Amino acid sequence: MNKFVLAVAAGLLASTSSYAGVTEEMLRDDTASTGDVLTNGMGRHLQRYSPLDTLNKENVKNLVPAWAFSLGGEKQRGQETQPLVHDGVMYITGSYSRLYAIDVKTGQEIWQYDARLPEGILPCCDVVNRGAAIYGDNIYFGTLDARIVALNKDTGDVVWRKKIADYKAGYSYTAAPLIVNGLIITGNSGGEFGIVGEVQARDAETGEMVWTRPVIEGHMGTYKGEESTMTGTLNATWPGDMWKTGGGATWLGGSYDIETDTLVFGAGNPAPWNSHLRNAGQPLDDNSGDNLYAASRIGINPENGEIKWHFQTTPREGWDYDGVNEVVAYTNRAGEKRWATADRNGFFYVLNREDGAFVRGVPFVKDISWAEGLDDTGRPVFSEGNRPGDPSASADGKKGEVIFASPSFLGGKNWMPMAFSQNTGNFYVPSNEWGMDIWNEPITYKKGAAYLGAGFTIKPNYEDHIGSLKAIDPDTGDIKWEFKNDAPLWGGVMTTAGGLVFTGTPEGEFIAFDDETGEKLWSFQTGSGIVGQPITWEQDGEQFVSIISGWGGAVPLWGGEVAKKVNYLNQGGLLWTFRLPKQLAEN
Ligand code: CA
Ligand code: CA
Repeated sequence: MNKFVLAVAAGLLASTSSYAGVTEEMLRDDTASTGDVLTNGMGRHLQRYSPLDTLNKENVKNLVPAWAFSLGGEKQRGQETQPLVHDGVMYITGSYSRLYAIDVKTGQEIWQYDARLPEGILPCCDVVNRGAAIYGDNIYFGTLDARIVALNKDTGDVVWRKKIADYKAGYSYTAAPLIVNGLIITGNSGGEFGIVGEVQARDAETGEMVWTRPVIEGHMGTYKGEESTMTGTLNATWPGDMWKTGGGATWLGGSYDIETDTLVFGAGNPAPWNSHLRNAGQPLDDNSGDNLYAASRIGINPENGEIKWHFQTTPREGWDYDGVNEVVAYTNRAGEKRWATADRNGFFYVLNREDGAFVRGVPFVKDISWAEGLDDTGRPVFSEGNRPGDPSASADGKKGEVIFASPSFLGGKNWMPMAFSQNTGNFYVPSNEWGMDIWNEPITYKKGAAYLGAGFTIKPNYEDHIGSLKAIDPDTGDIKWEFKNDAPLWGGVMTTAGGLVFTGTPEGEFIAFDDETGEKLWSFQTGSGIVGQPITWEQDGEQFVSIISGWGGAVPLWGGEVAKKVNYLNQGGLLWTFRLPKQLAEN
Protein backbone atom coordinates (compact mmCIF):
# COMPACT_ATOMS: atom_id res chain seq x y z
CA MET A 1 0.00 0.00 0.00
CA ASN A 2 1.44 3.39 -0.92
CA LYS A 3 1.37 6.46 1.28
CA PHE A 4 -1.59 7.99 -0.59
CA VAL A 5 -3.77 4.94 0.00
CA LEU A 6 -2.75 4.86 3.63
CA ALA A 7 -3.68 8.52 4.00
CA VAL A 8 -7.07 7.93 2.38
CA ALA A 9 -7.67 4.92 4.60
CA ALA A 10 -6.75 6.95 7.67
CA GLY A 11 -9.08 9.71 6.52
CA LEU A 12 -11.93 7.25 6.08
CA LEU A 13 -11.29 5.81 9.51
CA ALA A 14 -11.29 9.29 10.98
CA SER A 15 -14.55 10.23 9.32
CA THR A 16 -16.26 7.00 10.35
CA SER A 17 -15.15 7.38 13.94
CA SER A 18 -15.93 11.08 14.07
CA TYR A 19 -19.61 10.42 14.78
CA ALA A 20 -18.96 7.66 17.24
CA GLY A 21 -18.60 10.31 19.96
CA VAL A 22 -21.75 11.62 21.62
CA THR A 23 -24.84 10.04 20.08
CA GLU A 24 -28.55 10.88 19.94
CA GLU A 25 -29.15 8.00 22.40
CA MET A 26 -26.71 9.53 24.87
CA LEU A 27 -28.44 12.90 24.62
CA ARG A 28 -31.81 11.20 25.07
CA ASP A 29 -30.64 9.44 28.24
CA ASP A 30 -28.71 12.34 29.70
CA THR A 31 -30.71 12.71 32.91
CA ALA A 32 -30.36 9.03 33.80
CA SER A 33 -26.65 8.78 32.91
CA THR A 34 -25.17 10.32 36.04
CA GLY A 35 -21.54 10.07 34.92
CA ASP A 36 -21.87 12.91 32.44
CA VAL A 37 -23.83 16.10 31.67
CA LEU A 38 -24.36 16.31 27.92
CA THR A 39 -27.24 18.75 27.52
CA ASN A 40 -28.33 22.19 28.55
CA GLY A 41 -30.93 21.61 31.26
CA MET A 42 -29.46 18.23 32.33
CA GLY A 43 -31.91 16.63 29.91
CA ARG A 44 -33.55 18.21 26.89
CA HIS A 45 -36.79 18.53 28.90
CA LEU A 46 -34.83 21.14 30.92
CA GLN A 47 -35.85 19.71 34.31
CA ARG A 48 -32.38 20.31 35.79
CA TYR A 49 -32.96 17.33 38.05
CA SER A 50 -30.31 14.76 38.92
CA PRO A 51 -31.27 11.26 40.10
CA LEU A 52 -28.08 11.20 42.18
CA ASP A 53 -28.68 10.84 45.92
CA THR A 54 -25.17 10.18 47.22
CA LEU A 55 -25.17 13.81 48.28
CA ASN A 56 -28.17 14.37 50.53
CA LYS A 57 -29.69 16.57 53.20
CA GLU A 58 -27.59 14.96 55.95
CA ASN A 59 -24.17 14.95 54.31
CA VAL A 60 -24.27 18.10 52.15
CA LYS A 61 -22.51 19.89 55.02
CA ASN A 62 -19.42 17.89 54.02
CA LEU A 63 -19.33 19.21 50.43
CA VAL A 64 -15.89 20.75 49.87
CA PRO A 65 -14.11 22.51 46.98
CA ALA A 66 -12.17 20.16 44.69
CA TRP A 67 -10.73 22.76 42.33
CA ALA A 68 -11.40 26.16 40.82
CA PHE A 69 -10.65 27.46 37.34
CA SER A 70 -10.19 31.10 36.35
CA LEU A 71 -11.39 32.25 32.94
CA GLY A 72 -8.55 34.76 32.96
CA GLY A 73 -8.09 37.80 30.78
CA GLU A 74 -9.68 41.18 31.35
CA LYS A 75 -13.09 39.99 30.26
CA GLN A 76 -14.40 39.14 33.70
CA ARG A 77 -18.12 39.65 33.61
CA GLY A 78 -21.50 37.98 33.24
CA GLN A 79 -20.63 34.26 33.52
CA GLU A 80 -23.98 32.58 32.81
CA THR A 81 -22.79 29.24 31.45
CA GLN A 82 -23.96 25.75 32.33
CA PRO A 83 -20.96 23.36 32.18
CA LEU A 84 -21.08 20.12 30.20
CA VAL A 85 -19.12 17.01 31.29
CA HIS A 86 -18.10 14.26 28.91
CA ASP A 87 -15.35 11.65 28.97
CA GLY A 88 -13.24 13.31 31.64
CA VAL A 89 -13.56 16.81 30.18
CA MET A 90 -15.65 19.75 31.31
CA TYR A 91 -16.67 22.32 28.69
CA ILE A 92 -17.72 25.82 29.67
CA THR A 93 -18.43 28.96 27.70
CA GLY A 94 -17.35 32.37 28.97
CA SER A 95 -18.23 36.00 28.41
CA TYR A 96 -17.10 37.53 25.09
CA SER A 97 -17.70 34.25 23.21
CA ARG A 98 -15.01 32.04 24.71
CA LEU A 99 -15.07 28.27 25.22
CA TYR A 100 -12.83 26.21 27.52
CA ALA A 101 -12.09 22.49 27.79
CA ILE A 102 -10.93 21.55 31.29
CA ASP A 103 -9.64 18.31 32.81
CA VAL A 104 -12.52 17.38 35.09
CA LYS A 105 -10.27 15.68 37.64
CA THR A 106 -7.62 18.37 38.04
CA GLY A 107 -9.25 21.59 36.85
CA GLN A 108 -6.41 22.16 34.38
CA GLU A 109 -7.14 23.76 31.01
CA ILE A 110 -6.87 21.46 27.97
CA TRP A 111 -7.64 24.07 25.34
CA GLN A 112 -9.38 27.42 24.93
CA TYR A 113 -11.20 28.91 21.94
CA ASP A 114 -11.62 32.66 21.68
CA ALA A 115 -13.99 33.88 18.97
CA ARG A 116 -12.53 36.92 17.23
CA LEU A 117 -15.47 39.30 17.51
CA PRO A 118 -15.79 42.16 15.04
CA GLU A 119 -16.15 45.80 16.06
CA GLY A 120 -19.73 46.93 16.29
CA ILE A 121 -21.46 43.91 17.81
CA LEU A 122 -24.74 44.87 19.51
CA PRO A 123 -25.42 42.61 22.50
CA CYS A 124 -28.31 44.32 24.30
CA CYS A 125 -27.84 42.81 27.71
CA ASP A 126 -24.19 42.08 28.42
CA VAL A 127 -21.58 39.94 26.68
CA VAL A 128 -22.85 36.67 28.11
CA ASN A 129 -23.05 33.09 26.88
CA ARG A 130 -25.25 30.43 28.45
CA GLY A 131 -23.54 27.23 27.39
CA ALA A 132 -22.49 24.79 24.71
CA ALA A 133 -23.90 21.67 23.04
CA ILE A 134 -22.02 18.44 22.33
CA TYR A 135 -22.62 15.85 19.60
CA GLY A 136 -20.40 13.43 17.73
CA ASP A 137 -16.86 14.69 18.14
CA ASN A 138 -17.90 18.34 18.14
CA ILE A 139 -18.66 20.94 20.74
CA TYR A 140 -20.87 23.84 19.57
CA PHE A 141 -21.66 27.32 20.80
CA GLY A 142 -23.08 30.62 19.59
CA THR A 143 -21.15 33.88 19.47
CA LEU A 144 -22.04 37.53 20.02
CA ASP A 145 -21.67 38.29 16.31
CA ALA A 146 -24.61 35.91 15.65
CA ARG A 147 -22.64 32.88 14.49
CA ILE A 148 -22.66 29.24 15.44
CA VAL A 149 -19.31 27.48 15.69
CA ALA A 150 -18.52 23.75 15.70
CA LEU A 151 -15.19 22.88 17.34
CA ASN A 152 -13.46 19.53 17.58
CA LYS A 153 -14.05 18.57 21.21
CA ASP A 154 -10.55 17.15 21.63
CA THR A 155 -8.50 19.92 20.00
CA GLY A 156 -10.68 23.04 19.87
CA ASP A 157 -10.04 23.31 16.11
CA VAL A 158 -12.84 24.90 14.10
CA VAL A 159 -14.83 22.28 12.16
CA TRP A 160 -17.34 24.73 10.72
CA ARG A 161 -18.61 28.22 11.44
CA LYS A 162 -21.92 29.60 10.15
CA LYS A 163 -23.71 32.92 10.25
CA ILE A 164 -27.09 32.88 12.01
CA ALA A 165 -27.88 36.48 11.05
CA ASP A 166 -26.38 39.94 10.46
CA TYR A 167 -24.88 41.38 13.66
CA LYS A 168 -24.94 44.85 12.07
CA ALA A 169 -28.75 44.69 12.17
CA GLY A 170 -28.63 43.99 15.91
CA TYR A 171 -28.57 40.19 15.89
CA SER A 172 -26.40 38.30 18.36
CA TYR A 173 -26.38 34.88 20.01
CA THR A 174 -26.09 33.84 23.66
CA ALA A 175 -28.17 30.69 24.29
CA ALA A 176 -26.98 27.09 24.48
CA PRO A 177 -27.78 25.29 21.20
CA LEU A 178 -30.07 22.24 21.24
CA ILE A 179 -29.33 18.99 19.40
CA VAL A 180 -32.11 16.66 18.26
CA ASN A 181 -31.73 13.77 15.79
CA GLY A 182 -28.50 15.11 14.33
CA LEU A 183 -29.80 18.66 13.89
CA ILE A 184 -28.35 21.60 15.77
CA ILE A 185 -31.16 24.01 16.59
CA THR A 186 -30.68 27.66 17.51
CA GLY A 187 -32.72 30.81 17.97
CA ASN A 188 -31.51 34.40 17.74
CA SER A 189 -31.07 37.45 19.95
CA GLY A 190 -31.66 41.13 19.27
CA GLY A 191 -35.28 41.83 20.21
CA GLU A 192 -34.47 45.41 21.17
CA PHE A 193 -33.29 46.18 17.60
CA GLY A 194 -36.35 45.34 15.53
CA ILE A 195 -34.95 42.02 14.34
CA VAL A 196 -37.20 39.07 13.46
CA GLY A 197 -37.13 36.06 15.77
CA GLU A 198 -36.34 32.77 14.07
CA VAL A 199 -35.52 29.16 14.85
CA GLN A 200 -32.91 27.49 12.61
CA ALA A 201 -31.99 23.81 12.27
CA ARG A 202 -28.70 22.75 10.69
CA ASP A 203 -27.08 19.42 10.01
CA ALA A 204 -24.78 19.17 13.04
CA GLU A 205 -22.10 17.39 11.04
CA THR A 206 -21.84 19.84 8.14
CA GLY A 207 -23.51 23.02 9.37
CA GLU A 208 -25.79 22.98 6.32
CA MET A 209 -29.19 24.61 6.93
CA VAL A 210 -32.12 22.18 6.97
CA TRP A 211 -35.02 24.43 7.96
CA THR A 212 -35.80 27.89 9.26
CA ARG A 213 -38.91 29.04 11.06
CA PRO A 214 -39.40 32.78 11.62
CA VAL A 215 -41.75 33.29 14.55
CA ILE A 216 -43.47 36.51 13.45
CA GLU A 217 -46.65 36.30 11.39
CA GLY A 218 -46.18 36.92 7.67
CA HIS A 219 -42.60 35.66 7.31
CA MET A 220 -41.81 32.57 5.24
CA GLY A 221 -40.15 29.46 6.59
CA THR A 222 -37.72 27.34 4.56
CA TYR A 223 -37.05 23.63 4.24
CA LYS A 224 -33.92 22.34 2.48
CA GLY A 225 -33.37 25.64 0.72
CA GLU A 226 -36.94 26.09 -0.56
CA GLU A 227 -39.75 28.20 0.87
CA SER A 228 -41.94 26.02 3.07
CA THR A 229 -44.90 27.70 4.77
CA MET A 230 -45.76 31.16 6.04
CA THR A 231 -45.77 31.69 9.78
CA GLY A 232 -49.38 32.51 10.72
CA THR A 233 -51.54 34.58 8.38
CA LEU A 234 -50.26 37.85 6.97
CA ASN A 235 -51.73 40.87 8.82
CA ALA A 236 -54.12 38.79 10.90
CA THR A 237 -52.73 40.28 14.12
CA TRP A 238 -50.25 42.94 12.92
CA PRO A 239 -51.16 46.24 11.23
CA GLY A 240 -49.46 47.34 8.00
CA ASP A 241 -45.78 46.53 7.67
CA MET A 242 -44.97 46.43 11.38
CA TRP A 243 -44.47 42.62 11.22
CA LYS A 244 -41.40 43.13 9.02
CA THR A 245 -39.42 44.38 12.02
CA GLY A 246 -41.65 42.68 14.58
CA GLY A 247 -39.11 41.36 17.11
CA GLY A 248 -39.96 38.11 18.87
CA ALA A 249 -36.31 37.15 19.39
CA THR A 250 -35.96 33.46 20.23
CA TRP A 251 -33.02 34.35 22.41
CA LEU A 252 -33.16 31.74 25.14
CA GLY A 253 -33.08 28.65 22.93
CA GLY A 254 -35.49 25.79 23.32
CA SER A 255 -36.42 22.48 24.92
CA TYR A 256 -37.30 19.14 23.39
CA ASP A 257 -39.88 16.58 24.48
CA ILE A 258 -39.13 13.17 23.00
CA GLU A 259 -42.54 11.74 23.97
CA THR A 260 -44.46 14.17 21.77
CA ASP A 261 -41.48 14.81 19.45
CA THR A 262 -41.87 18.55 19.93
CA LEU A 263 -39.41 21.43 20.14
CA VAL A 264 -40.60 24.39 22.18
CA PHE A 265 -39.08 27.81 21.65
CA GLY A 266 -40.24 31.05 23.20
CA ALA A 267 -40.47 34.37 21.35
CA GLY A 268 -39.56 37.68 22.96
CA ASN A 269 -41.29 41.04 22.96
CA PRO A 270 -42.89 42.34 19.80
CA ALA A 271 -40.96 45.34 18.49
CA PRO A 272 -41.06 48.20 19.18
CA TRP A 273 -41.89 48.29 22.89
CA ASN A 274 -44.42 51.08 22.22
CA SER A 275 -47.49 48.87 21.79
CA HIS A 276 -49.63 51.69 20.39
CA LEU A 277 -47.67 51.47 17.14
CA ARG A 278 -48.51 47.77 16.81
CA ASN A 279 -52.18 47.71 17.60
CA ALA A 280 -53.50 51.26 17.35
CA GLY A 281 -57.10 51.09 16.25
CA GLN A 282 -57.41 47.37 16.88
CA PRO A 283 -60.34 46.88 19.23
CA LEU A 284 -59.54 45.46 22.66
CA ASP A 285 -62.24 42.83 22.43
CA ASP A 286 -60.86 40.87 19.48
CA ASN A 287 -57.44 39.38 18.70
CA SER A 288 -56.48 41.55 15.74
CA GLY A 289 -53.83 43.46 17.72
CA ASP A 290 -52.25 40.45 19.42
CA ASN A 291 -48.99 40.51 17.39
CA LEU A 292 -48.51 36.77 16.99
CA TYR A 293 -46.26 34.94 17.71
CA ALA A 294 -44.32 37.47 19.79
CA ALA A 295 -44.46 36.91 23.57
CA SER A 296 -45.50 33.31 22.91
CA ARG A 297 -44.35 29.72 23.32
CA ILE A 298 -44.29 27.78 20.06
CA GLY A 299 -44.37 24.00 19.61
CA ILE A 300 -42.38 23.01 16.49
CA ASN A 301 -41.93 19.78 14.55
CA PRO A 302 -38.15 19.13 14.72
CA GLU A 303 -38.09 17.36 11.37
CA ASN A 304 -39.32 20.24 9.18
CA GLY A 305 -39.81 23.33 11.34
CA GLU A 306 -43.60 23.41 11.01
CA ILE A 307 -45.50 24.99 13.90
CA LYS A 308 -47.63 22.48 15.82
CA TRP A 309 -49.18 24.83 18.38
CA HIS A 310 -48.65 28.15 20.09
CA PHE A 311 -49.58 29.72 23.38
CA GLN A 312 -49.29 33.49 23.70
CA THR A 313 -48.59 34.57 27.26
CA THR A 314 -48.87 38.34 26.64
CA PRO A 315 -50.98 39.38 23.64
CA ARG A 316 -50.70 43.10 22.73
CA GLU A 317 -47.49 43.05 24.78
CA GLY A 318 -46.39 46.50 25.98
CA TRP A 319 -44.05 46.05 28.96
CA ASP A 320 -41.15 44.05 27.43
CA TYR A 321 -42.55 40.80 28.83
CA ASP A 322 -40.55 38.56 26.48
CA GLY A 323 -42.16 35.13 26.12
CA VAL A 324 -38.86 33.30 25.94
CA ASN A 325 -38.61 31.66 29.33
CA GLU A 326 -37.86 27.97 29.29
CA VAL A 327 -40.67 25.48 28.86
CA VAL A 328 -40.06 22.34 30.93
CA ALA A 329 -41.59 18.98 29.99
CA TYR A 330 -42.62 16.98 33.06
CA THR A 331 -45.18 14.47 34.26
CA ASN A 332 -47.33 15.52 37.20
CA ARG A 333 -48.31 13.47 40.25
CA ALA A 334 -51.41 12.16 38.48
CA GLY A 335 -49.27 10.92 35.57
CA GLU A 336 -50.42 13.64 33.16
CA LYS A 337 -47.93 14.99 30.61
CA ARG A 338 -47.44 18.70 31.05
CA TRP A 339 -45.29 21.68 30.14
CA ALA A 340 -44.55 24.37 32.70
CA THR A 341 -43.14 27.84 32.22
CA ALA A 342 -42.72 30.90 34.46
CA ASP A 343 -43.16 34.00 32.34
CA ARG A 344 -41.57 37.44 32.54
CA ASN A 345 -45.15 38.72 33.01
CA GLY A 346 -45.38 37.17 36.50
CA PHE A 347 -47.61 34.17 35.75
CA PHE A 348 -46.61 30.50 36.04
CA TYR A 349 -48.34 28.45 33.33
CA VAL A 350 -49.07 24.74 33.02
CA LEU A 351 -49.84 23.56 29.47
CA ASN A 352 -50.89 20.22 28.03
CA ARG A 353 -47.86 18.52 26.52
CA GLU A 354 -49.75 17.08 23.53
CA ASP A 355 -51.15 20.30 22.10
CA GLY A 356 -49.89 23.20 24.21
CA ALA A 357 -53.42 23.87 25.50
CA PHE A 358 -53.70 25.98 28.64
CA VAL A 359 -54.30 24.00 31.83
CA ARG A 360 -53.71 26.53 34.60
CA GLY A 361 -51.91 29.79 35.34
CA VAL A 362 -51.11 31.37 38.69
CA PRO A 363 -49.10 34.42 39.76
CA PHE A 364 -45.66 33.51 41.08
CA VAL A 365 -44.72 37.05 42.10
CA LYS A 366 -46.68 39.48 44.24
CA ASP A 367 -48.11 42.75 42.97
CA ILE A 368 -48.80 41.99 39.29
CA SER A 369 -50.37 45.24 38.06
CA TRP A 370 -50.78 44.94 34.29
CA ALA A 371 -53.42 42.17 34.40
CA GLU A 372 -56.18 41.35 36.85
CA GLY A 373 -55.73 37.66 36.17
CA LEU A 374 -56.16 35.08 33.41
CA ASP A 375 -59.36 33.89 31.79
CA ASP A 376 -60.11 30.20 31.29
CA THR A 377 -58.07 30.11 28.06
CA GLY A 378 -55.04 31.65 29.78
CA ARG A 379 -55.52 35.02 28.09
CA PRO A 380 -54.74 37.90 30.45
CA VAL A 381 -57.54 40.10 31.71
CA PHE A 382 -55.78 43.43 31.12
CA SER A 383 -55.75 46.37 33.51
CA GLU A 384 -55.84 48.78 30.58
CA GLY A 385 -55.00 51.73 32.83
CA ASN A 386 -51.69 50.00 33.50
CA ARG A 387 -50.55 50.13 29.87
CA PRO A 388 -48.02 52.92 29.24
CA GLY A 389 -49.88 55.78 27.53
CA ASP A 390 -49.93 56.58 23.83
CA PRO A 391 -47.47 59.41 23.07
CA SER A 392 -49.53 60.52 20.08
CA ALA A 393 -52.29 61.35 22.55
CA SER A 394 -50.03 63.65 24.61
CA ALA A 395 -49.98 67.44 24.21
CA ASP A 396 -46.66 67.57 22.34
CA GLY A 397 -46.85 64.03 20.97
CA LYS A 398 -43.48 63.17 22.52
CA LYS A 399 -44.20 61.25 25.70
CA GLY A 400 -47.16 59.17 26.73
CA GLU A 401 -48.51 58.89 30.25
CA VAL A 402 -46.02 57.38 32.73
CA ILE A 403 -47.36 54.43 34.69
CA PHE A 404 -45.91 52.20 37.39
CA ALA A 405 -46.14 48.57 36.28
CA SER A 406 -45.13 45.37 38.06
CA PRO A 407 -43.27 43.16 37.37
CA SER A 408 -40.51 45.28 35.81
CA PHE A 409 -39.41 44.70 32.23
CA LEU A 410 -36.71 42.36 33.59
CA GLY A 411 -39.57 40.16 34.64
CA GLY A 412 -41.00 38.19 37.52
CA LYS A 413 -38.46 35.74 36.18
CA ASN A 414 -35.90 36.35 33.48
CA TRP A 415 -33.64 33.87 31.63
CA MET A 416 -32.33 32.12 34.76
CA PRO A 417 -33.68 28.61 34.60
CA MET A 418 -36.00 27.06 37.18
CA ALA A 419 -35.78 23.36 38.07
CA PHE A 420 -38.34 20.58 38.50
CA SER A 421 -37.85 17.93 41.17
CA GLN A 422 -38.99 14.39 40.45
CA ASN A 423 -38.48 13.97 44.20
CA THR A 424 -41.16 16.44 45.32
CA GLY A 425 -43.12 17.17 42.14
CA ASN A 426 -42.50 20.89 42.72
CA PHE A 427 -40.83 23.58 40.63
CA TYR A 428 -38.16 25.82 42.12
CA VAL A 429 -38.42 29.22 40.49
CA PRO A 430 -35.82 31.99 40.78
CA SER A 431 -37.99 35.12 40.75
CA ASN A 432 -37.72 38.84 41.44
CA GLU A 433 -40.13 41.27 43.07
CA TRP A 434 -39.69 44.57 41.27
CA GLY A 435 -41.61 47.08 39.18
CA MET A 436 -40.93 50.05 36.93
CA ASP A 437 -42.01 53.47 35.83
CA ILE A 438 -42.51 53.08 32.08
CA TRP A 439 -43.61 55.44 29.33
CA ASN A 440 -43.86 55.34 25.54
CA GLU A 441 -42.26 57.63 22.99
CA PRO A 442 -42.42 57.89 19.20
CA ILE A 443 -39.94 55.67 17.34
CA THR A 444 -39.17 54.63 13.78
CA TYR A 445 -37.13 51.63 12.70
CA LYS A 446 -33.49 52.19 11.78
CA LYS A 447 -31.20 49.24 11.06
CA GLY A 448 -28.85 48.53 13.95
CA ALA A 449 -30.43 51.13 16.28
CA ALA A 450 -32.42 50.43 19.44
CA TYR A 451 -36.11 50.11 18.52
CA LEU A 452 -37.98 50.66 21.77
CA GLY A 453 -40.14 53.78 21.77
CA ALA A 454 -40.09 53.55 25.55
CA GLY A 455 -38.27 54.77 28.62
CA PHE A 456 -38.23 53.19 32.06
CA THR A 457 -36.85 53.23 35.60
CA ILE A 458 -36.71 49.97 37.49
CA LYS A 459 -37.56 49.90 41.23
CA PRO A 460 -37.61 47.33 44.04
CA ASN A 461 -41.11 46.55 45.33
CA TYR A 462 -39.82 45.76 48.84
CA GLU A 463 -37.05 47.26 50.95
CA ASP A 464 -35.65 44.00 52.27
CA HIS A 465 -35.46 41.90 49.12
CA ILE A 466 -35.87 41.68 45.38
CA GLY A 467 -34.78 38.09 44.80
CA SER A 468 -37.16 35.30 45.75
CA LEU A 469 -36.58 31.60 45.17
CA LYS A 470 -39.98 29.93 45.36
CA ALA A 471 -41.02 26.29 45.60
CA ILE A 472 -44.24 26.05 43.58
CA ASP A 473 -46.64 23.12 43.44
CA PRO A 474 -47.62 23.02 39.75
CA ASP A 475 -50.83 21.08 40.49
CA THR A 476 -52.26 23.77 42.76
CA GLY A 477 -50.12 26.86 42.24
CA ASP A 478 -49.38 26.90 45.98
CA ILE A 479 -46.08 28.38 47.05
CA LYS A 480 -44.60 25.85 49.48
CA TRP A 481 -41.65 27.96 50.61
CA GLU A 482 -39.74 31.07 49.69
CA PHE A 483 -36.13 32.21 50.13
CA LYS A 484 -35.76 35.99 49.99
CA ASN A 485 -32.56 37.60 48.77
CA ASP A 486 -31.52 41.25 48.91
CA ALA A 487 -30.21 41.48 45.32
CA PRO A 488 -32.18 40.21 42.32
CA LEU A 489 -31.64 36.51 41.61
CA TRP A 490 -30.05 35.91 38.20
CA GLY A 491 -28.64 32.34 38.39
CA GLY A 492 -30.02 28.91 37.53
CA VAL A 493 -31.47 26.29 39.86
CA MET A 494 -30.85 22.53 40.14
CA THR A 495 -32.63 19.79 42.08
CA THR A 496 -31.40 16.33 43.11
CA ALA A 497 -32.87 13.04 44.27
CA GLY A 498 -30.90 13.64 47.47
CA GLY A 499 -33.55 16.24 48.34
CA LEU A 500 -31.44 19.27 47.54
CA VAL A 501 -32.09 22.49 45.62
CA PHE A 502 -28.99 24.42 44.53
CA THR A 503 -28.75 28.01 43.38
CA GLY A 504 -26.47 31.03 43.75
CA THR A 505 -26.88 34.71 44.55
CA PRO A 506 -25.36 37.92 43.16
CA GLU A 507 -23.77 38.30 46.62
CA GLY A 508 -21.69 35.22 45.71
CA GLU A 509 -23.25 32.55 47.92
CA PHE A 510 -23.70 29.12 46.38
CA ILE A 511 -26.47 27.53 48.45
CA ALA A 512 -28.05 24.10 48.96
CA PHE A 513 -31.63 24.15 50.29
CA ASP A 514 -33.85 21.39 51.66
CA ASP A 515 -36.32 20.77 48.81
CA GLU A 516 -39.25 20.31 51.20
CA THR A 517 -38.70 23.06 53.76
CA GLY A 518 -36.44 25.63 52.09
CA GLU A 519 -33.99 25.36 54.98
CA LYS A 520 -30.50 26.49 54.01
CA LEU A 521 -28.33 23.38 54.53
CA TRP A 522 -24.99 24.51 53.10
CA SER A 523 -23.45 27.51 51.44
CA PHE A 524 -20.11 28.61 50.02
CA GLN A 525 -18.87 32.11 49.15
CA THR A 526 -17.55 32.01 45.57
CA GLY A 527 -15.98 35.47 45.48
CA SER A 528 -18.13 37.08 42.79
CA GLY A 529 -21.81 37.14 41.94
CA ILE A 530 -23.41 33.92 40.71
CA VAL A 531 -25.39 34.22 37.49
CA GLY A 532 -24.42 30.77 36.20
CA GLN A 533 -26.14 27.40 36.25
CA PRO A 534 -25.19 24.49 38.55
CA ILE A 535 -24.65 20.88 37.50
CA THR A 536 -23.90 17.63 39.33
CA TRP A 537 -22.41 14.33 38.21
CA GLU A 538 -20.72 11.24 39.55
CA GLN A 539 -17.11 10.26 39.11
CA ASP A 540 -15.14 7.41 40.71
CA GLY A 541 -18.03 6.77 43.09
CA GLU A 542 -18.20 10.34 44.37
CA GLN A 543 -20.73 13.08 43.64
CA PHE A 544 -19.47 16.41 42.26
CA VAL A 545 -21.19 19.78 41.87
CA SER A 546 -20.02 22.71 39.72
CA ILE A 547 -21.07 26.34 39.43
CA ILE A 548 -19.52 29.32 37.70
CA SER A 549 -19.17 32.63 39.55
CA GLY A 550 -18.82 35.98 37.76
CA TRP A 551 -21.21 38.89 38.28
CA GLY A 552 -22.78 40.63 35.30
CA GLY A 553 -25.70 40.13 32.95
CA ALA A 554 -28.59 42.52 32.42
CA VAL A 555 -29.17 43.74 35.99
CA PRO A 556 -26.09 45.98 36.42
CA LEU A 557 -26.68 47.44 32.94
CA TRP A 558 -30.28 48.50 33.53
CA GLY A 559 -29.99 49.23 37.24
CA GLY A 560 -32.32 52.16 37.99
CA GLU A 561 -32.96 52.21 41.74
CA VAL A 562 -31.98 48.57 41.79
CA ALA A 563 -28.36 49.59 41.16
CA LYS A 564 -27.98 50.39 44.86
CA LYS A 565 -28.43 46.73 45.67
CA VAL A 566 -25.78 45.56 43.19
CA ASN A 567 -23.27 48.33 42.47
CA TYR A 568 -20.82 47.14 45.16
CA LEU A 569 -20.56 43.61 43.72
CA ASN A 570 -17.23 42.50 42.26
CA GLN A 571 -16.96 41.03 38.78
CA GLY A 572 -15.16 37.77 38.20
CA GLY A 573 -14.85 34.59 36.25
CA LEU A 574 -14.19 31.51 38.35
CA LEU A 575 -15.55 28.02 37.88
CA TRP A 576 -15.91 26.14 41.18
CA THR A 577 -16.12 22.36 41.47
CA PHE A 578 -17.13 20.72 44.76
CA ARG A 579 -16.85 17.12 45.85
CA LEU A 580 -18.33 14.97 48.56
CA PRO A 581 -15.37 12.79 49.60
CA LYS A 582 -16.32 9.11 49.91
CA GLN A 583 -15.38 8.93 53.57
CA LEU A 584 -17.71 11.86 54.36
CA ALA A 585 -20.70 10.55 52.42
CA GLU A 586 -21.98 8.51 55.36
CA ASN A 587 -22.96 11.36 57.63
CA1 CA B 1 -25.88 12.38 31.77
CA1 CA C 1 -37.04 42.16 25.29
